[in-house]
Amino acid sequence: MERREFLKAAAGTAAAAACGVYALRVLTAKGMEGLGGEEPPAGRRWGMLVDLAKCREGCTVCLDACRSENNVAFFGDPRIDIHWIRKVAVRKQVGGRTEEKEVLLLCNHCDEPPCAQVCPVQATYKRHDGIVIVDQHRCIGCRYCMIACPYSARYFNFRDHEDWPNREHARRSHGVAESCNLCAHRLDRGRKPACVEACEALGPAALAVGDLNDPGDPVAKAVATRSVKRLKEDLGTRPKVYYEGL
Ligand code: SF4
Ligand code: SF4
Repeated sequence: MERREFLKAAAGTAAAAACGVYALRVLTAKGMEGLGGEEPPAGRRWGMLVDLAKCREGCTVCLDACRSENNVAFFGDPRIDIHWIRKVAVRKQVGGRTEEKEVLLLCNHCDEPPCAQVCPVQATYKRHDGIVIVDQHRCIGCRYCMIACPYSARYFNFRDHEDWPNREHARRSHGVAESCNLCAHRLDRGRKPACVEACEALGPAALAVGDLNDPGDPVAKAVATRSVKRLKEDLGTRPKVYYEGL
């Protein structure tokens, strides 16, 4: 067998094994939820609430803040641009007519993250506080996580980029995957994620971050008492981004 064929076969086998593990874990998570739900881990557990009624149409303040804070690459080429947070237009039928609304999408920091479960080198992992992170130095660029993520929240660095406004972060080179890290570096210092802070500056905020394990936290309270939804809940990924008004 030629070297190229061997590498292809090895990658295929690894992908099949990884997807098999993911399927098993999703089934396990689903099974547990069916039995009354898995106990959340102790300690802080970050989550986000998106109130779509307060999200201003056409507003890109949170998207811009995220880009500047985290040096998220934008080349003006939709094939390679990276979006840690993005807005998409969603249509739905309401009483015989079609309504369109903008929905903010970002990494859901799933409690059962398939991206982490398929990563062959543990470059993607869930922190003790529930934030799902990519270690840029471990990532080998296989892109299994991009295939496994049911929310299309993962992006690949096809190119190095020169625009690096926030020198606090190390430069990410081409060839690695990335997605929203909930501004973990800011949360660790008691600050809110850049998108939340930017949205709050406009007035009543559409975005809020909080500790889902703290019953007194406003986000945890809203999740417990208000009508909120998560995306693709049936997959058993247990997302920690909640939507109001979806
Ligand atoms: S949304 Fe996608 S990238 Fe984020 S934790 Fe879930 S599976 Fe991973
Ligand atoms: S692209 Fe990187 S983070 Fe994603 S699965 Fe491969 S090694 Fe892990």
